[in-house]
Amino acid sequence: MNSSKNLIQRRSFLKLGAVGSCGLLASAGNLLWQVQQVQAAKLSSAPSLSPDAALQKLMEGNQRFVEHKPKHPDQSQTRLKEVAQTQHPFATILSCADSRVPAEIIFDQGIGDIFDVRIAGNIATREAIGSIEYAVAILDTPLLMVLGHERCGAVTAAVRKESLLGEIGSFVKAIQPAVAKSKEWPGDAVENAVIANVQYQIEKLKRSPLLAERLRTGKLKIWGGRYDLDTGKVSLVT
Ligand SMILES: [Zn+2]
Repeated sequence: MNSSKNLIQRRSFLKLGAVGSCGLLASAGNLLWQVQQVQAAKLSSAPSLSPDAALQKLMEGNQRFVEHKPKHPDQSQTRLKEVAQTQHPFATILSCADSRVPAEIIFDQGIGDIFDVRIAGNIATREAIGSIEYAVAILDTPLLMVLGHERCGAVTAAVRKESLLGEIGSFVKAIQPAVAKSKEWPGDAVENAVIANVQYQIEKLKRSPLLAERLRTGKLKIWGGRYDLDTGKVSLVT
């Protein structure tokens, strides 16, 4: 860093300091927002899908995966360069961190197609909601899917009320309401809780004012999904 740059930064800092700490935070927030708006405006020139077309694209990719006929789209060097400066993913997926549920593979998509938010138990934590809001409100993704899966270890731990070492079980608390909701359902307790957990996390996400506004104006649709570990098939959860 040269001395003139240091000087400019120091002057800027002093100027910002004069407005007080609250003003400084507000200015930084406004600046970040403006940068994001410019970025979003650049991205708006990219082709965008309707929420229904995005769902169709995603499910067609899963069908190819299930039939062992993947096309591996958007994985070329050309695609790499195409999205190096901007991104315009057509779907946001909140899914489990489980190594057997990689979104790009099971939906047969490529680079720049899916905004992945992965965490054990596909739970909508504050940070996950923030990431999703970024993808939806700034990157303009028209589809949000919450994807649970068969024999999920996180859900199983919540059903069995297992005590786990360290912070490993931190997700259990976030799944407990779904376990309670599905307790009386007939059938397998873990399988039921996987479905109830997808529904519960969607309800949490709908409380986000940013997402609610997009839902209201038809720019976003939220779908639940359940991934079958044995067949590779994703079924929609209503
Ligand atoms: Zn899982």
